[in-house]
Amino acid sequence: MNKIHNFINGQIVDSASTEYSPVFNPATGEEIAQVVQSTPTDIEAAVAAAKAAFPIWAATTPLRRARIMNKFRDLLEENLDELAEIVSREHGKVHSDAKGEVIRGLEVVEFACGGPNLLKTDMSENVGTGIDSHALRQPLGVVAGITPFNFPVMVPMWMFPVALACGNSFILKPSERDPSAAMFYAELVTQAGFPPGVFNILHGGKHVVDALIEHQDIPALSFVGSTPIAKYIYERGASFGKRVQALGGAKNHMVVMPDADIEKTVNALMGAAYGSAGERCMAISVVVPVGDEVADKLKTRLIEELAIMKVAPGTDNDAEMGPLVTKAHLDKVAGYIAKGVEESAELVVDGRDFKMTREGYENGYFIGGTLFDNVTTDMTIYKEEIFGPVLSMVRAKSYDEAVNMINEHEFGNGTAIFTRDGDAARAFTHEIQVGMVGVNVPIPVPMAFHSFGGWKASLFGDHHMHGAEGVRFYTKLKTITSRWPTGIREGGSAYVMPTME
Ligand code: NAD
Repeated sequence: MNKIHNFINGQIVDSASTEYSPVFNPATGEEIAQVVQSTPTDIEAAVAAAKAAFPIWAATTPLRRARIMNKFRDLLEENLDELAEIVSREHGKVHSDAKGEVIRGLEVVEFACGGPNLLKTDMSENVGTGIDSHALRQPLGVVAGITPFNFPVMVPMWMFPVALACGNSFILKPSERDPSAAMFYAELVTQAGFPPGVFNILHGGKHVVDALIEHQDIPALSFVGSTPIAKYIYERGASFGKRVQALGGAKNHMVVMPDADIEKTVNALMGAAYGSAGERCMAISVVVPVGDEVADKLKTRLIEELAIMKVAPGTDNDAEMGPLVTKAHLDKVAGYIAKGVEESAELVVDGRDFKMTREGYENGYFIGGTLFDNVTTDMTIYKEEIFGPVLSMVRAKSYDEAVNMINEHEFGNGTAIFTRDGDAARAFTHEIQVGMVGVNVPIPVPMAFHSFGGWKASLFGDHHMHGAEGVRFYTKLKTITSRWPTGIREGGSAYVMPTME
């Protein structure tokens, strides 16, 4: 059995641990690897390596750091297909989608290649007579990132390229469900020329995360995952005086106005609701048609599209939706469908009817796309994140009803409006209490040079990820006020608050 170990100080390091977690191929249900559960000794070794690497890396000029980052970027591009294959094998998403994920990660690396420019700061001349003021953005030290299973390449790359470009060293704690992609890009990090200890990987579950939270040599934590864990990490990290950005779960609504182009909306909705088997934090899981006429049209077309959507192993070239990540997650999603029926939502298409019969894949974690209509806001399937290919239709009588519904929801990660009406679209972007908003764009994931993050229970902390917010998160601001002697003595000591007058 393939054993996956930690990556510490530029090397794959055997652990004395006797505990390993199974890693499955979701398309076949077969156990394909085991990932180590790190011991306290492993954790200490990773933090010590990152701590030792930090001063030299922080003192390396931003331009030199950027050259190494550029090399890493080229290596990622050269190895794009292999990395996508690894993602598909352990996550289950279809190959084209896995490639898309790698490209979105690569874009953050490209952003981080601009480190010298990103670290430029403000300067004011003559804030007082002969006195100048300027700012510095300095790295924090050893920072850690804890990431979810659903984007094993893209989400870590929201974090570490920006952290490294700013001069920090980094410890990644990837999801134990699909840890191999991280091991692959660790090799590329070494090939690119990042010094040993600058980037490290520690595997494991809660005990590793707790140790990182409590460690006095780690001043900042980035987290992406479910809301209960995000809240826990934010609160516990803050109690240790750490800087924390913790991105949580989501329930993303798409409002469809009566004037929307139905065909374009259906195409967008199919990809946004069922792509990656709904295991995206920006997936649309609720569609809110305004008026029964548009709702009925949408329902008819979604039924037709679901009947022809190709559910197959992610390695099939024409697969549109792969399996869910684990058996436990498959059972959870099926449980939510049962709950929807129990709470009297109208089950229009039941994904549980799908059976994978292809030889060798009968034990894969497949489920078909599900559509519920007449879902109401008091139902569990509306309130909670399902994180599977289940779309709920909640009919609204008016635009205002749709907006109020979204604003009252616990989560505020992403949302979209489909309309031809500029007035409605503009009002929506201003009124909606959600961090990322699309106008005729179903999954409005910001590009690397903007910042990614939700509102409400979808993000705990002050900073979004990558873009300018990422640079702010991974640096401390220092402001310097300086006066150089002019050779003329200017009186004695002053005991009043300096005013620069
Ligand atoms: P998860 O919360 O179960 O796990 C995330 C990470 O936390 C993993 O590395 C895991 O090992 C660790 N972890 C798990 N339990 C822990 C505990 N009790 N204490 C400390 N650490 C713990 O999330 P997941 O199932 O891997 O990912 C899916 C979730 O992530 C969904 O809720 C999804 O919406 C969310 N997500 C959010 C965003 C976003 O940008 N807001 C992006 C991607 C995924």
